[in-house]
Amino acid sequence: MINIDNIWKDTLDELSKLMTVVSFEVWVEKLEPVCIFQNQLVLCAPTKTAKKTVETKYGDVITEVLSAVNPQLTGSIFITEEQKDEYLKSQDSVLDGAGFIINEPVPGPIKNPFKENYTFETFIQGKSNAYALAAAKSVAENPGGTYNPLFIYSGVGLGKTHLLNAIGNYLMSTTKSRILYVNSETMINDIISNMTNKTSNEESNAFREKYRTCDVLMVDDVQFLSGKTATQEAFFHIFNDLYQNNKQIILTSDKAPKDIGALEERLKTRFASGLTVDIQIPDLETRVAILHSKAAQQKFNLSKEVAFFIAENSPSSIREMEGLLNKIIFYSSLTNHIIDTEELAQEALKDSLSEKKEVIDATDIVNAVADYFRVSVQDLVGPKREKKIVEPRMIAIYLINELLSMPLAAIGAMFGNRDHTTIMHSRDKITEDIRTDTRIKIAVVDIKSKLLDR
Ligand code: ADP
Ligand code: MG
Repeated sequence: MINIDNIWKDTLDELSKLMTVVSFEVWVEKLEPVCIFQNQLVLCAPTKTAKKTVETKYGDVITEVLSAVNPQLTGSIFITEEQKDEYLKSQDSVLDGAGFIINEPVPGPIKNPFKENYTFETFIQGKSNAYALAAAKSVAENPGGTYNPLFIYSGVGLGKTHLLNAIGNYLMSTTKSRILYVNSETMINDIISNMTNKTSNEESNAFREKYRTCDVLMVDDVQFLSGKTATQEAFFHIFNDLYQNNKQIILTSDKAPKDIGALEERLKTRFASGLTVDIQIPDLETRVAILHSKAAQQKFNLSKEVAFFIAENSPSSIREMEGLLNKIIFYSSLTNHIIDTEELAQEALKDSLSEKKEVIDATDIVNAVADYFRVSVQDLVGPKREKKIVEPRMIAIYLINELLSMPLAAIGAMFGNRDHTTIMHSRDKITEDIRTDTRIKIAVVDIKSKLLDR
């Protein structure tokens, strides 16, 4: 009979191999497993300080090892004695004899896959995007209606992915539609692996299930279909199936349909057969408004002077502009200095602003990873330890170590004072994963190429 004590014991065995004897004995061995809550193991620490220390320094490694011991466990929650009753009362899962977690059905909405801060409310309207925003709202209110497909195109970092998420978030809160959001690269991988696995029925059913049973299909960055003949063929059929059943299709691209090279004529025609809208580069005033909104979301007090300075220095991409803002936020939290004048901002951003930047720094990597996995920068460097955050965090750590050869302790300091053993573990784990897990390998290669060929 397996219970949480066995699971914890196995976890301790593994951890003892990964950590120094002292850290292990002082901090980790004294934790007591309490119960399982939302698929995370609740661990009780003897004191508040111990809770804080394990949480920030060893939380990632513990989560990592726990989910290796029992893959159904997706995280760890650290508490102190006073919170024990509260968790024991609200535990929502039990282990069966074989160690499987049986979840009591938790009433509540289905999990929302969309990025929560990409909504219509947080999308600042300006002349450059008014038309695209109106089209997106109209599709969100009436999916499968008059604007089908909706095709949005623009240069990079101007809000296409934000709008797709906004539509998704809106539909999640107002309807029960099945919404599938995929980046075209994911779709290409899906189509290819479905084609090569033709022998396995299960595989192609799963594929059908995924692409042909949704009510709304969003494919982000369809320009990557360029030149992929077999994928285009398969996508043409998916498109027609959905379209004929009045399912909404929303596509984004960096160019208008007619300008996408090496794309079948019939797909170009399909793509342009609904409504095509573009997003232009926003004017200075809109860029400043966007910066204030982004700063407010991060609870950062952004002075007008600094906002204008950033907006003037990143004229062509909002993503780039946000990168500069994040640097200011990051810099001021590291140095504990208020950056509220143009001079201070200039100082903080001097490396990034020097013409055609050659050097990549840690913030670029953190931003790129956050962007790729659609998690926030704060979460990435913060204390959260759900798997969906821990994995990107480990990848960021791996890349910083690989690309910048920064000392492990310095990386630990950047990531909320994590211990250098945690950093070392992340680095080794991802090094290993790259060899064994294609998904991780693709992620690392993608992020690296985005970073290196800017
Ligand atoms: P794209 O998909 O076009 O490359 P994204 O949607 O990823 O661009 O946008 C890049 C960043 O800029 C995101 O953080 C997004 O929230 C932000 N952004 C773009 N346009 C706006 C806007 N009008 N209001 C607020 N944020 C915006
Ligand atoms: Mg995008």
